[in-house]
Amino acid sequence: MEPLATALWYAASGVPVLPLHTGGGGGRCSCRRPHCDRPGKHPRWHPRLITAGLHQATTDPDQVVRWWTAWPRANVGLRTGVTVDVCDVDTPVGLRLLSALVDDAAVPAVRTGSGGLHLYFAATGAPNRVRVLPGVDWRGKDGYVVAPPSIHANGRRYRWIRHGPAPDCPSELISLVMPPPRPHPRSCATRPGTPRPHSTTRRSGSGRRRWGSATTRSTGRRAAWAGWPPPGTSVSTRSPTRSPTPPAPPASGRTRQRARSARA
Ligand SMILES: [Zn+2]
Repeated sequence: MEPLATALWYAASGVPVLPLHTGGGGGRCSCRRPHCDRPGKHPRWHPRLITAGLHQATTDPDQVVRWWTAWPRANVGLRTGVTVDVCDVDTPVGLRLLSALVDDAAVPAVRTGSGGLHLYFAATGAPNRVRVLPGVDWRGKDGYVVAPPSIHANGRRYRWIRHGPAPDCPSELISLVMPPPRPHPRSCATRPGTPRPHSTTRRSGSGRRRWGSATTRSTGRRAAWAGWPPPGTSVSTRSPTRSPTPPAPPASGRTRQRARSARA
């Protein structure tokens, strides 16, 4: 599936998209900077098309067409924290630790170009967090991920390996990604040895109640994006357990018409 059609499908599913630079074999990046530190992963920039990167991610199909008409091979970035959050697993150790907490068999998953794993959950309201476990990061509010059919700097594509509706994040994982609550002003006067709010909350589980409300809000959006990935996207392993029910991708004629008007 071409990047434009896939980006339109993500947008129609309620997930804001943004155009990223494209990777190439040998660590090259379409930004052509000789020492780009994030090849194929950072937002495109153009004075009339996109100047604020992530903050201009959109579900507007006309804008998506304008971007991918200007850059047909642009990698596809998905803003997290709106409809979906992504658990980013970079190492086998991280996957083993995560699997001990979460049954990931029913979670939509992407094999990244570097061989890692992106697990898609319903948005939780959590912010980005690095190293929630060794080798595991969380992409939430104000974050984004590179999505299929993007090309990694090593030349390999990101690809869906499992699909279906993104589930609510399990409480065991939420307890890791949730930010520690701000201490109450009076609690600043606690005596030495008093447990820190962070550890107290984890044990008490009070944060889970907060997250429960967040996932309830996100559940209402699920109907729009149940059944990832988009039709026509190859899924390399395991047969889908249910038929995807995404919005129909736009007809190619419509796409071309938008493309012409974008160029006008
Ligand atoms: Zn670059």
